[in-house]
Amino acid sequence: MASYKIALLNGDGIGPEIMAEAIKILKLVETRNNIEFELLPGAFGASAYFSHGHSFPDETKALCDDADAILKGPIGLNHEESKKIPVDMQPERGALLPLRRRYDTFANFRPVYLPKAIAHFSPLKPEIIGDGIDLIMIRELVGGLYFGNKEVGTNEEGKRYVNETLEYDEDQIARIAKVAFNTAQKREKVLHNIHKSNVLKSSVLWNEIISEVGDNYPDVEVKHILVDAAATYLCLNPRQFDVMVMENMFGDILSDQGGGILGSLGLMPSACVGPEKAYYEPSHGSAPDIAGKGIANPYSMIGSVAMMLEMSFDLAQEAKKIWQAMQSVFAQGYSTPDLSTPSANMKMIKTNEFGDLVAEELAKN
Ligand code: NAD
Repeated sequence: MASYKIALLNGDGIGPEIMAEAIKILKLVETRNNIEFELLPGAFGASAYFSHGHSFPDETKALCDDADAILKGPIGLNHEESKKIPVDMQPERGALLPLRRRYDTFANFRPVYLPKAIAHFSPLKPEIIGDGIDLIMIRELVGGLYFGNKEVGTNEEGKRYVNETLEYDEDQIARIAKVAFNTAQKREKVLHNIHKSNVLKSSVLWNEIISEVGDNYPDVEVKHILVDAAATYLCLNPRQFDVMVMENMFGDILSDQGGGILGSLGLMPSACVGPEKAYYEPSHGSAPDIAGKGIANPYSMIGSVAMMLEMSFDLAQEAKKIWQAMQSVFAQGYSTPDLSTPSANMKMIKTNEFGDLVAEELAKN
């Protein structure tokens, strides 16, 4: 029997609620595949800061080091609550970026997937959605502005200032470019390169390297688009995109827009892949506005499980069945509150009910 260790980082806000549903699905996958998942919970994020005095405690680091994969819930507090934590220990700076750095998870896959079964949740018009949207954003995750040198101080004139650096070297760009070209090669063989070379020199180098790496992929057509224009096209004509590659901050912002065109960030799972380890998390945050109400949409967390099964454990068929089970639940007229208003005449369900229905559907296949 295959046995895998999974570090489970529930996180903050809705994290524990949506993680509980992900675990339901993992348990089902375990029983029907002769696999054992050893689930190892670890403190992470704001809750870890309050319980352990550190938002990424050493115990959690050891647990993650030992795990075959990491399943992570969203972290973070609302604006006011965040002030209770010192700036450098606040969840992103104290836990999330160090997690990404520790495992060098440079390749972030964020699917924006809107098949017919859930097309009614999108705010886009049916004629724009057509047969559905199926694109993947590939975001460089351990470089750029988020990881560059940061300096805060007071200058000679006594003015407070900040200086943050957007840094990439050619190797960092080349490795994410290869991931993007390989992905495009397996899909529609079109790669949209998102950049801002009319202003940023970092984008000039980025584009140079994309072209150099592209020479080894003559079967993939590269289309260069400025990031601001890409934001518009995502609303007006998202079906032109199949694989998009971009640097860290562009990816952070554009992928949330991806959630917008689907109808909710709750429909956005992701995979963060490094040379030796990967972790899986929803693209969204901890949704403090709805935490504790049992109404969060766990699709993003269960979708992250599906991505983990496919990418870390070679269980592509099982992953496909999970996607199908989730689509099928929505196709039956169910909705979570983030996706529809009560007047939309849908069968409104809570977080745990969605998990139960997905498990029921999955058990049928
Ligand atoms: P958010 O993504 O948490 O929420 C934005 C909106 O989307 C909210 O209205 C929320 O209710 C809704 N939403 C998000 N996920 C949902 C789901 N699964 N089901 C239903 N509705 C959902 O963004 P925010 O409010 O700007 O940030 C909250 C906290 O999350 C902040 O502390 C932020 O720093 C943190 N954050 C963490 C991550 C991460 O862990 N990777 C990513 C983004 C933001």
